[in-house]
Amino acid sequence: MNQTPLGLFGVEALISDEDRAIRDTVRRFVDDRLRPHLADWYETAQIPARELARELGSLGLLGMHLEGYGCAGTSATAYGLACMELEAGDSGLRSLVSVQGSLAMFAIWKHGSEEQKQEWLPRMAAGEALGCFGLTEPDFGSNPAGMRTRAKRDGDDWVLSGNKMWITNGSVADVAVVWAQTDDRIRGFVVPTDTPGFSAPEIKKKLSLRASVTSELVLDNVRLPGTALLPGAAGLSGPLSCLSEARFGIVFGALGAARDCLETTLAYAGDRQIFDKPLAAYQLTQAKLADMTLELGKGMLLALHLGRLKDEGTLESAQVSLGKLNNVREAIAIARECRTILAAAGITLEYPLMRHANNLESVLTYEGTSEVHQLVIGQALTGQSAFR
Ligand SMILES: Cc1cc2nc3c(=O)[nH]c(=O)nc-3n(C[C@H](O)[C@H](O)[C@H](O)COP(=O)(O)OP(=O)(O)OC[C@H]3O[C@@H](n4cnc5c(N)ncnc54)[C@H](O)[C@@H]3O)c2cc1C
Repeated sequence: MNQTPLGLFGVEALISDEDRAIRDTVRRFVDDRLRPHLADWYETAQIPARELARELGSLGLLGMHLEGYGCAGTSATAYGLACMELEAGDSGLRSLVSVQGSLAMFAIWKHGSEEQKQEWLPRMAAGEALGCFGLTEPDFGSNPAGMRTRAKRDGDDWVLSGNKMWITNGSVADVAVVWAQTDDRIRGFVVPTDTPGFSAPEIKKKLSLRASVTSELVLDNVRLPGTALLPGAAGLSGPLSCLSEARFGIVFGALGAARDCLETTLAYAGDRQIFDKPLAAYQLTQAKLADMTLELGKGMLLALHLGRLKDEGTLESAQVSLGKLNNVREAIAIARECRTILAAAGITLEYPLMRHANNLESVLTYEGTSEVHQLVIGQALTGQSAFR
């Protein structure tokens, strides 16, 4: 029996029985329920998001590492491992879960009023309500502090105007957590998507994350009661605290895509006969496989280490940047290298390589681009901010 790439690293010994059981459940769900449809969902850019949300909710995967309000309250490591399995299927599915749990639900769980938590979290955990998280704008991605979306007081109400861009789950969401500039600071608002003045046109023609809904949010004088304000968040630290949660999931998630590519490639190279012997038997192929295995395994050790730190409550945001930068960068390199081994066969949806590679282009960009994470790490090392 041949070793698997992660088996060679012996990572199983680093995962607790409870976390492993959760991971195995998610892996089975991905293989049995999702994998047969992934290529079609990607090709047609259609996913049954609401149906999937309910299934993911019944498995306890939505907001799974949060406590209370119907959330499963697992370890952070278990959440990471679940993200890895979901992204071994498709980054779009992991994105659905990340945005729901780590961005929309976490924002309400961490910064919301008791009333907001009671109203939304149990339904969101069950997958009966979907959430999105509106921070990015057409002109402000890496620099959200410049946002133009405004929230103005009108008596007891708030009135929101502006545009958000590239918002995952936007058109299918029941609730949007929207960040807006007020006279004081940036504040967050819980916006039911059936509020008059709110619309979410879907962004079409994407070549990446096709099995994920991405939308613009249009806020045209959206009037909300005073209770729509997230009381616990004032300033950019509010949305950044949520991004750190989602980035943590990506540290593991991206490795799922890479693992799927590498395992697919190992199987293919073992079968494919070139010049009368298996492609896997050539030194050049083995050098590629060995180098990719090294990066996958190192990334996994880093992810598990960050998971332990998060479970102990000591994980810092610059450490999440180390993981996000490294693991997404290596995952996309692995996906592309695997594609060279499959050569022509690697360019279709018959195999997952280009689907993963294309998806990882978005993963490289959202939740802080690679350059932004380099700057975060640079600042941690030097004490100098080079953002401006
Ligand atoms: C599929 C998808 C889903 C998304 N989902 C969401 C979502 O749910 N919610 C949400 O709010 N946003 C979402 N985003 C938006 C994402 O977070 C932004 O795209 C990202 O922050 C980058 O912003 P930008 O695309 O405007 O790039 P820009 O900010 O315009 O960056 C352009 C380039 O400049 C570089 N750069 C930026 N600052 C510096 C600097 N100081 N020095 C040197 N180079 C720099 C960047 O790294 C990048 O290479 C999503 C994006 C995608 C693609």
